[in-house]
Amino acid sequence: MKKWIMEEDKLNLIFVIISGIALLVSLSHLLRGSLGFDSAWIAIVLCGIPILLGAIKGLVVDHDIKADVLVSIALVASVCIGEYFAAGEVAFIMAIGTLLENGTSRKANEGIERLIKLTPKTARVLKDGTEKIIPADQVNINDILLVLAGETIPVDGVIASGETSIDQSVMTGESLPIDKTVGDAVTSGTVNQYGTFTMRATKVGKDSSLQRMIQMVKEAEANKAPIITLADRWATWMVWAALGAAVITGAVTGELIRAVTVLVVFCPCAFILATPTAILAGIGNATTYGIIIRSGDALERFSKVKHIAFDKTGTLTHGKLNVMAVKSFNDCITEEKLLYYAASAEQRSEHPIGKSIVSYYQSICHTMCEPQEFSLLAGQGVRAFVDGQEVMAGKPDLLKTEGITIPEKIQKAATDYSEKGATIVYIGINKETAGFIVLSDTVREDAAAMISKLKELHMEPILLTGDNASAAQYISELVSISKVKSDLLPEDKMNELKRYNQKDEPVCMVGDGINDALALKSAYAGVAMGGIGSDIAVEAADAVLVSDDIQRIPYLIKISQKTMKKINVNIVFSMSLNFLAVLLSAMGILNPVLGALVHNVGSVAVVINSALLFVSKDR
Ligand code: ADP
Ligand code: MG
Repeated sequence: MKKWIMEEDKLNLIFVIISGIALLVSLSHLLRGSLGFDSAWIAIVLCGIPILLGAIKGLVVDHDIKADVLVSIALVASVCIGEYFAAGEVAFIMAIGTLLENGTSRKANEGIERLIKLTPKTARVLKDGTEKIIPADQVNINDILLVLAGETIPVDGVIASGETSIDQSVMTGESLPIDKTVGDAVTSGTVNQYGTFTMRATKVGKDSSLQRMIQMVKEAEANKAPIITLADRWATWMVWAALGAAVITGAVTGELIRAVTVLVVFCPCAFILATPTAILAGIGNATTYGIIIRSGDALERFSKVKHIAFDKTGTLTHGKLNVMAVKSFNDCITEEKLLYYAASAEQRSEHPIGKSIVSYYQSICHTMCEPQEFSLLAGQGVRAFVDGQEVMAGKPDLLKTEGITIPEKIQKAATDYSEKGATIVYIGINKETAGFIVLSDTVREDAAAMISKLKELHMEPILLTGDNASAAQYISELVSISKVKSDLLPEDKMNELKRYNQKDEPVCMVGDGINDALALKSAYAGVAMGGIGSDIAVEAADAVLVSDDIQRIPYLIKISQKTMKKINVNIVFSMSLNFLAVLLSAMGILNPVLGALVHNVGSVAVVINSALLFVSKDR
């Protein structure tokens, strides 16, 4: 509960608590005499005035009728006829609703704010030998900039002089700093570690990497319509209906008090609580199973998915691969040397394949060399200079795009392994295929059971992998997934998911790597592996499995469906209760205080019903 309530809401929380006590006192008539005024006034002032001001601002500035307008009308009407308890109670419940809503919606914007904070405000431009500090958004292409140690790089560019090492973790998720020298590209938002260097700007303003990323995240947010509370969606209608009912009641019966009671019971407080309380309880329950769901909006999307797409390495498999064989096809390079080149080049890789090659090489107790000019080609492999030799390690396409052919003999030798489900990493040295490394991965023990549970929930599992077709086939048979797409680049995974979105078939993506970030963002809903997964994947996802426990995925779907069901029940219940209460008030059976209490009972019932989600179990 606590983490949902941030600084600015703390004061409101205190107000709500004080108001609650004041209302209890008012109801019990205890101190009415000794205080000299009805203590319900405390609730009216603390909770009511902010609502009143909010409603006036909404009407005057945004020309927008929200649920708070109706509450304000009921509040003022009750005060006018001296029904202070009813007024205070309505304000009190409404304030609780607002607190809960703020808590659930605030999380969403934190990601963007963090990125914006990373954007440097100024840049040091060198002109005619002198240094001038100008705003970062006024840098032009081809300007020469000076970057000192510890500074954030203001725009994208190429190093013109000097050497340094750069922390690129914000952009790539790579946690180790990367060495850079003259001619290397540097991106905005990344942090210069040790050296001082000059750079030539190549992409500025909106085109720079950081700005593009902020834009992408913003678009992703905008595409995902925020949950507008149902109460607000219906507010205009409700205000007129309430006023109409009150006027008719007043006109027909001639009793002002009945009209005011109608206004009080019409207030949609239980309605307002229906959604945020259920979402809080649903998200809270999921947390106890190691599932972090980012927002209520995400939860709603999970409840609607019909297909679940999985990445292979690191998601369905453990991502701790065994090196089965190393084959060199270059007489001058021994198998051990080939492994040395590959392991050295992979040292900076975050990919499970790279990590596995490195740890295997270390386990046979050899030291590696520091790679130079390391670059990561997401979903394909890596490139780096090792002892002055250009080394590439990755899938066949990576070598092909560099113009390196893989001789038939080598391909044939590799097929013998890949047919058995192994992953092949080809090694190119100085633009020639030198050999390959064979790796095998183990499927997570609970993967097959998880897939069969998903099928019971009528979900269609899909395998989307960047690995070769045979490896994909092998794994898919082990876990019984019949829909398989292999040899996909990160963009291909994204396009595959977009196709589902276009067909209006909500699909959820489960992935772990940097190369999955795009897919996670473009899927209707995304789940990242919190343990093995890279930061960028975690950032891009709507939910995170804290300890990579894929067995929980069916429960994630189940709890989100349960929560949405709960919300619907809450809404139907609170609407029915409101309707009944309006009738009883119009008939004069309820007075304002009784009306306020019925109204309160409705809200409490909704909260209890939602809280039941906390005890939901994954069985
Ligand atoms: P998956 O979809 O199975 O998780 P990826 O999309 O992460 O696979 O990677 C696809 C393929 O790209 C791998 O099977 C491998 O051949 C190659 N690859 C990716 N990263 C690396 C790396 N760091 N080193 C070598 N090969 C890599
Ligand atoms: Mg992966």
